[in-house]
Amino acid sequence: MTTKYIFITGGVLSSIGKGVTAAATGRLLKARGFSVAVQKLDPYINVDPGTMSPYQHGEVFVLDDGSETDLDLGHYERFIDIRLNKVCNVTTGQVYAEVISRERRGDYLGGTIQVIPHITNEIKRRVRMVGKATGAEIVLVEVGGTVGDIESLPFLEAIRQMRFDLGRENTSYIHLTWLPHIGATGELKTKPTQHSVHELRSIGIVPDAIVTRSDYPIDAEIQEKIALFCDVDAKAVIPMVTTPILYEIPLLLEETPIADLLLESLNLKARTQPDWSEWEKIVSEVQREKPQVNVALVGKYVELHDAYISVREALQHAALANGVELNLKWLHSADLEEDQGLETLNNVDGIIVPGGFGSRGIEGKIKAATYARENSIPYFGLCLGMQVMVVEFARNVLQLNKANSAEFDRSTPAPVIDLMPEQNSVTEKGGTMRLGLYPCHLQEGTKARDAYQVEMVEERHRHRFELNNDYRAELEDAGLICSGVSPDNRLVEIAEVKNHPFMLGTQFHPEFLSRPNRPHPLFTAFIKAVSKHAGIHKDV
Ligand code: GLN
Repeated sequence: MTTKYIFITGGVLSSIGKGVTAAATGRLLKARGFSVAVQKLDPYINVDPGTMSPYQHGEVFVLDDGSETDLDLGHYERFIDIRLNKVCNVTTGQVYAEVISRERRGDYLGGTIQVIPHITNEIKRRVRMVGKATGAEIVLVEVGGTVGDIESLPFLEAIRQMRFDLGRENTSYIHLTWLPHIGATGELKTKPTQHSVHELRSIGIVPDAIVTRSDYPIDAEIQEKIALFCDVDAKAVIPMVTTPILYEIPLLLEETPIADLLLESLNLKARTQPDWSEWEKIVSEVQREKPQVNVALVGKYVELHDAYISVREALQHAALANGVELNLKWLHSADLEEDQGLETLNNVDGIIVPGGFGSRGIEGKIKAATYARENSIPYFGLCLGMQVMVVEFARNVLQLNKANSAEFDRSTPAPVIDLMPEQNSVTEKGGTMRLGLYPCHLQEGTKARDAYQVEMVEERHRHRFELNNDYRAELEDAGLICSGVSPDNRLVEIAEVKNHPFMLGTQFHPEFLSRPNRPHPLFTAFIKAVSKHAGIHKDV
């Protein structure tokens, strides 16, 4: 079967949930028996988001193969329950880098290299690669940015041409827009949608469906108005009203004809009757009144919650599985550097320190770890959070009071966290960390092994530093358990503090593999310990 492509563009403004819409639409198609993959086309010129500040871009989502990608790939993986690979995120930077390197090699000898056809052909090649690389029957392609942006024009031209290349029955176009609400008159306005569809049509793309995001329900009159001005059937105007429950979105879309419309336009018939019972259970569990637990997330980019989106989602999944309501307190690590800042940790039931880079706020994170250790508060460290836990332990239990990570103090007399030897020769910043899936062996009789219930796991990584083996024996003698190690025993992947209800850190990022219906075992174990601290679960 030829791979079928659904292209998703956005109009009016950004941040209206294009990634989630693509993800939820993918779920609808999977529920009808199709294998699905999703690709994000990002118009910026960076080769990948790996070198961007989280303030610019939010979280960097890491895939099995180690590619550093847009956070929307996290939505795709979580909603559709799939594992994507590097062809699923393309940037302008990658496209130009490829075309320019071919030009330097002499591949186009004599030719003038132009946006059309050279850049657009390269974009199309990468779009078609998704079908081949993933074997998916239906590929959803989300074009980043908003129609009208200069940067996205080559992508739009490329996806326009794909209908010509692949045929009408193999391509479908969805345009997502926003309907603003005028408070004074209580009206939803369609004009920006009309303009945006007009702009899209002027590029040559006629949408098959228009998904309208709004904070208020839309009525038939608005649907018809959009249909009339934008030249689609009224039933192809798909309402998507804001919901506070993220995982309700596939259920809301299921109530619309979008899946039928897409399958019809792609000349496909549903193979299975969708079964939403698991999702309905998740949503009703979210709605149910539950006892609350307070968890502090101590980070450096907390102003921008998107910087920790997978961590937040993984915590939510685990809270649902434990039957508790998560009250997440976002704490700036720099604020904890002042002593009185620690007061904010007074009534938390758990502390999570996620990944990060650079020294800003690091002492605040170390203080949070001390507080957790001394007060028996569950602590979960992810990557940098694990390294912080080890530094804290070395300083205050081993009494190496100048212990540090070499990342923050190159001349520390006790570099308990040090650069991995293979990183010594690395000079380039992009894509050069230890990235992607690596195996980890779990030691029996540890919290990690109890949580996973298996001997070997594979987790996703993104780091340059590691626990320094020169200090491993000393740390272990003092009560730090290296409960997860690489199969050759060279690299400590999980550490935990002995005689503490739950103080565990991972060198990898477990948050990337958590699913709403399948929370990550370590997050589940952490929230279980948190619930016990809050006096909710007594049986742990
Ligand atoms: N900065 C640390 C390192 O490079 C931690 C990285 C992370 O948290 N992802 O090892």
